[in-house]
Amino acid sequence: MIFTMATALLSDNVRVLKSSVSKTAYQGVLIAIAAIIVASCMVSFYLVGEVSLEGIVKAQKTNMALWILNGVPFVFALWGQYSSSIIAYEAGAMIYDQTQELRQRADEMTRQASYVTTHDPLTDLPNRALFYDRVGQAITSTNQQDIKLSILLIEIENFKEVYDTLGRTSSDLILKQIATRLQSVVLDPDSVARIDGNVFGILLTDIDDDLMEAQYLAQAIQKAMEQAFIVERLQFAVHSNVGIVHFPKHGEDVDSLVQRAGVALYMARSSNNGYSVYESSFDKHSPMRLTLMSELRNAIDRDQLELYYQPKIDIQSCELFGAEALVRWNHPKHGFISPDEFIPMAERTRTIKTLTLWVLKRAFQHCAEWHRKGLEIKISVNLSAKDLLDPNLPDIIAGVTASSGVKPEWIILEITESSIMTDPERALIVINRLNEMGFELAVDDFGTGYSSLAYLKKMPLSELKIDKSFVEDIQNSDNDAIIVKATINLAHNLGLHVTAEGVENQEILNRLKGYGCDIAQGYYFSKPLAVDAFNEWMAKMKLQKNLCGMHRKAS
Ligand code: C2E
Ligand code: CA
Ligand code: CA
Repeated sequence: MIFTMATALLSDNVRVLKSSVSKTAYQGVLIAIAAIIVASCMVSFYLVGEVSLEGIVKAQKTNMALWILNGVPFVFALWGQYSSSIIAYEAGAMIYDQTQELRQRADEMTRQASYVTTHDPLTDLPNRALFYDRVGQAITSTNQQDIKLSILLIEIENFKEVYDTLGRTSSDLILKQIATRLQSVVLDPDSVARIDGNVFGILLTDIDDDLMEAQYLAQAIQKAMEQAFIVERLQFAVHSNVGIVHFPKHGEDVDSLVQRAGVALYMARSSNNGYSVYESSFDKHSPMRLTLMSELRNAIDRDQLELYYQPKIDIQSCELFGAEALVRWNHPKHGFISPDEFIPMAERTRTIKTLTLWVLKRAFQHCAEWHRKGLEIKISVNLSAKDLLDPNLPDIIAGVTASSGVKPEWIILEITESSIMTDPERALIVINRLNEMGFELAVDDFGTGYSSLAYLKKMPLSELKIDKSFVEDIQNSDNDAIIVKATINLAHNLGLHVTAEGVENQEILNRLKGYGCDIAQGYYFSKPLAVDAFNEWMAKMKLQKNLCGMHRKAS
């Protein structure tokens, strides 16, 4: 538009220029003719004494100066024509040059405008709109040729942490490095796009029938991200997850494919290898769960969780041995959410690390506080399977220990049977370090998993907790009674003390005492209590001589 207007304006200007040159030439011709007439009249007067036709003819015939003068209008006319042609030519050339320049500038402006709307300014990668567009185009063209596509969504899971630690400028640098690393693992760097803040997308076209390319790429991405990122001489590790969908297997249009890639990405967070290919069974992990997940993160950040404590009683001495810290989430909208629901959810993502850190900090602070007050109790804290696979866990715990003033021997770290068995070799490294630091370790929910005794023997454990599902029923089920008895003997033979969970009445307690069980925990003594309530409970219990027999009145 601008370009057309400018061209028209230039052409108009040239026309005006050309006509003004012609006008000047015409004026020259008129002046020359007037000069001829005046000169002829003067010469006529000079020759015949009057201004007459005869005198003028005579003057024209005899006076050579008039002949020269007569040629001047032709000179003007020719000069006018010549000059206007030259000017027209030069103006034409000028218009051509300026038109070209304008055209180039207009093209450049159009290109820039389209680049800005289709690319991410930070990484220079195609943005979400262009990515969706390309997926749409690929679907259309593959529809005709029966070719398969794969879409990968890559999420940098701990990007918020990086951002909170480094701030905007430096975390932007990390994002750029991530973009470059992603481009380095694909054949066509242009297939990588930035979909959202910490989410990237890759479109694989023309893939083989076995659909394995995307998984190989996901492995290559994990490998590429493994090496730490260095910004401001600091090293940062990023954790990436990859969700994969295939076209046409998992969806026929862009929206359903991208939505399902998102579901696969969600599932990838809880996978061992960090990537996951969409399956229709994933759909039960509804958006409600996804929302809850992000709310849990906020709840941790905003301190909306609470730690409750459930007493553990030494059965033989009938004194308070310690307490287990159990986390509680009272959701503002959904009310109380059981840890049995949100812990596995957090375990599927790396949120469990944040949650465990929160629990450790709180439990250690409370424990240190009780010891300052002279209450020599041991506090048990639950660790999850994912925590045990994190080689940094001992360092994290060392940090929390130092800042809380707690002594490691006051703490028992509970690890479940199944978490040990997830990756026993890796778990053992972490467990050994924690033990060397002076922490006691307990194997929780014993009997529910398939732990290998060979591994348990290798572990520096000090406590075994028999799962409540066996304890609850020892009065009615001979089988359960036999299992509990055998487990207590086995644990003692391995040098461990035994806690029975789910002690709900006096009879269970009596039986456990008969079997030689060391510690009892359950509703018979108390439900898990908030700190104030637990303090009150302990104050009341202090007045009791025999905790095993008289607790009921107090609880
Ligand atoms: P758990 O570690 O086996 O904890 C014992 C559970 O048994 C607690 O459930 C407790 O309230 C319940 N319980 C205690 N006494 C009795 C009883 O006499 N009868 C019955 N039926 N149940 C009893 P809670 O607090 O709902 O916790 C459930 C699970 O959530 C825990 O099982 C543990 O695996 C997990 N959990 C809780 N807090 C944390 C935490 O801070 N970190 C981690 N990683 N997991 C946690
Ligand atoms: Ca436990
Ligand atoms: Ca347990």
